[in-house]
Amino acid sequence: TKHFPVRKRGREVLSRVTRMVQAVDDVSLTLRRGRVTALVGESGSGKSTVARLLAQLYPRTAGEVKLHGKPVTATSGKRFRAYSRQVQMIFQDPFASLNPVHTVRYHLTRALKIHNRAGASKEDLENALTGLLARVQLTPPERYIDKFPHELSGGQRQRVAIARALGADPEVLLADEPVSMLDVSIRLGVLNLLRDLKERLHLAILYITHDIASARYFADETMVMYAGRVVEGGDSETVTQQPAHPYTQLLIDSAPDPDQIAGYRTSEKDRGSGEPPSLINPPSGCRFHPRCPHVMERCKTDLPPRFDISDGHFAACWLYDKEKA
Ligand code: SF4
Ligand code: MG
Repeated sequence: TKHFPVRKRGREVLSRVTRMVQAVDDVSLTLRRGRVTALVGESGSGKSTVARLLAQLYPRTAGEVKLHGKPVTATSGKRFRAYSRQVQMIFQDPFASLNPVHTVRYHLTRALKIHNRAGASKEDLENALTGLLARVQLTPPERYIDKFPHELSGGQRQRVAIARALGADPEVLLADEPVSMLDVSIRLGVLNLLRDLKERLHLAILYITHDIASARYFADETMVMYAGRVVEGGDSETVTQQPAHPYTQLLIDSAPDPDQIAGYRTSEKDRGSGEPPSLINPPSGCRFHPRCPHVMERCKTDLPPRFDISDGHFAACWLYDKEKA
């Protein structure tokens, strides 16, 4: 759970400074090695905040993060550095995450040195650099190693950002919209690369996206977030083919063509009908109730818990409450 204080913007908000944005509320998920878990939702649904909480970039309001079943408590020092080596983040905009005045060599060397090759010989380091570039299919390495970020394409930059993350020899990759700023024609290549890395390096990947079609293509498991809460989850095939939650159904209905992975939109603002609610004062009961075509009286007052639909597939929606049916 993460609640932020509302930023002071103009007089209107100043008079109510103690209000909080309920960005992430009671979200629980498990990442497993060798699997991609997608977290799907609209802009402002809290999915990036979840990634930042997992990376320990923000303090949590409540809840805990565990690695190998052990709670992670350190936010600085040696144990925190060990954690941040194991759990690496990849961001939406590779241009912003790479330093424009440094070459590919600098970025990758730094990652290798910080994390695990402090005392490596020059030759070992060079081999490691070549290996990293080969891992992300930037070959031959000498074509890329001394380039600056602006001399690379968007897709190449994202591959460098991925290589840098791999330099730490991580177990977990948190990928926040890793392809949504790339040209449609190269998105698939980057997703395929991540899938290949997942298998070869046995990584656990959290794939954050507003595009449910890409989750179906790329992720083993899919969780859908709405207004700071997870509303549905299960294996990707089931969630996308037999969506249970009315919000997931809306997401799928408003996708241009669920089978056309390369055709998805670049803007996450223009999909779905209706507006996501304010998280300063979220709707009571089910947060989706003002937009839901199946809304019932109890939805307006009672928060629906997770109901199991089939093995591993759940939805937080009163429609699946067997006892009331
Ligand atoms: Fe719709 Fe009610 Fe289900 Fe919420 S709990 S999604 S309002 S039917
Ligand atoms: Mg985001």
